[in-house]
Amino acid sequence: MPERSYFDWNASAPLREQARRAFEEALALTGNPSSVHAEGRAARAVVEKAREQVAALVGARPGDVFFTSSGTEANVLALSPAWESAAEKRPRDRLFISAVEHASVQAGGRFSNALVEELPVDAEGRLRLDVLQKTLPKSTRPLLSLMLANNETGVIQPVAEAAALVHAAGGFLHVDAVQAVGRIACDINTLGADFLTLSAHKIGALKGVGALVRAREELHLADPLIRGGGQERGLRAGTENVAGIAAFGAAAAAAQARREAETKHMLGLRNKLEAALRAIAPDTVIFGEAAERLPNTTLFTLPGMKAETAVIAFDLEGIAVSSGAACSSGKVRPSHVLAAMGVSPALTRGAVRASLGWETAEIDVERFQIAWRKLASALSKGQRGIAA
Ligand code: PLP
Repeated sequence: MPERSYFDWNASAPLREQARRAFEEALALTGNPSSVHAEGRAARAVVEKAREQVAALVGARPGDVFFTSSGTEANVLALSPAWESAAEKRPRDRLFISAVEHASVQAGGRFSNALVEELPVDAEGRLRLDVLQKTLPKSTRPLLSLMLANNETGVIQPVAEAAALVHAAGGFLHVDAVQAVGRIACDINTLGADFLTLSAHKIGALKGVGALVRAREELHLADPLIRGGGQERGLRAGTENVAGIAAFGAAAAAAQARREAETKHMLGLRNKLEAALRAIAPDTVIFGEAAERLPNTTLFTLPGMKAETAVIAFDLEGIAVSSGAACSSGKVRPSHVLAAMGVSPALTRGAVRASLGWETAEIDVERFQIAWRKLASALSKGQRGIAA
């Protein structure tokens, strides 16, 4: 197989070496973490160590981390009317979400459709705080779900400002930090979030593992998502995925230790990539460019380009990029994120995402440039078979 360059880290990241080791060690454990014998206690110790590592990554207490089967499941767990605090036992009466949330938040979790209200974003994809402020009084016990960074554009949301507004209105804030964690500072208390969603495979652990983190012990879910054996302190029954959780913990520790160096590394290469996009094709549009963005993500297009054909052209050159949200790739559907930002359908159809990670190297960006030069020149010559 020829050399490949992977630019789809927002879809999934490679396994970190530390995660692989933790996973393999945990595979040797026979015990069920709920069993009281030595084998059970050994498995329990692995789960609890990982809980500490994941908690440390986001500045939470280990007792406030609940492991789930994915970021998606953590989002659904968070989006329940039945979250209560010591002071407020009545159910949440409305769910507000931004118009650019991940599909698992857009679906509204366990709120009925009539109780879910979508809030607009500005042209860069940031939540309109003025609209939030005007809309919050419709509810006395709101829940707002706002992602920290968008999976398609990388645009960072004004989470701390939104938290202040929601808390003043007596509400809770859930933050989907799946794409942000490990890439920018992500401390649950600094953000002002009451709940935070994480996904293991975006930080170098396995697919099919996630966590919901709460800010305080007093936050209680009166109606658990999965009832049964009482695992995860009654919030999410089912024998724990011990090896997957062990890998998650190890990846979290590595991501925490290397965060600043990795951010700097990704940002340097992403900036080079964007400079090359424009140097080769000055008409290149980079979505959300005027906003603060993740250091690893660029969503771009050229007028006249079609994303599906561009992704195939890149792929044939050994470059893995994606069109729109990778979670739904396979289905060709226009990006709801760009539509919410007011981007024209014609430009939306051409949006291609390149996302980088800690293993991305200069050579990858060089290969990307070669592929882009071919694609852009085919487009400008009107070779519609390749790019249009
Ligand atoms: N939230 C965001 C912002 C995502 O990008 C994704 C996946 O891409 C998810 C949630 C879902 O995470 P998982 O793949 O673990 O279900």
